[in-house]
Amino acid sequence: MTITEGVTMLQSSAGSHVFLVQADKNVLIDTGNPGQFDAIWAELRSLGVDSMAHILLTHHDVDHIGNARRLQEQTGASVWTSREEIPYIIGEKPRPGIKRIIQAIVRAEPPRITGSYSENQPFGDIQVIPAPGHTPGHVIFLYHRVLFIGDLLAVKRGTLRLFPSYLTWNSQAVLQSLALLKTLPFDWLCPAHGQPLPHNDAVERFLRQY
Ligand SMILES: [Zn+2]
Repeated sequence: MTITEGVTMLQSSAGSHVFLVQADKNVLIDTGNPGQFDAIWAELRSLGVDSMAHILLTHHDVDHIGNARRLQEQTGASVWTSREEIPYIIGEKPRPGIKRIIQAIVRAEPPRITGSYSENQPFGDIQVIPAPGHTPGHVIFLYHRVLFIGDLLAVKRGTLRLFPSYLTWNSQAVLQSLALLKTLPFDWLCPAHGQPLPHNDAVERFLRQY
């Protein structure tokens, strides 16, 4: 599904969306659930993609880092995340709460992390914006008025939803990140879970609560 010029939501990663941004370089945002590599790679090939400069992770959850390692091996992409997420990705820290159980059942092979987000990185027009709360180092991305919100919010039946508290690291931090989100210039909100939403009155009303 094309969101806007150069932004595609892959169909092969339904359940936890992967987005392809094609600017001067190919960039992937998140990598889906473990076991989806073959389908994701086939779809990328069908879109004419045979190289990937960067894989940008919103956060450490298994359904976002699931195919990072294999996509990295296949394409030679560098893999980026925020500093706070690294210990969870490489298995140095257990994921908190129920995610500790999930990670024992659904295993994701950790990618080799190239580095953590900082100023002046080579991601072209993709802006990395810290939006902690769902996890300690959760980030969102803004590219040409398309906002990739990871798991800051989900979309269900066309409506924005907060994640339940048992899947949330710090609810107070989520609220602060939502206050920031409503100040950003965007035409599309692209969640990892649920369909992309245009910035319409309902979105505006939802965000005004925070
Ligand atoms: Zn998550």
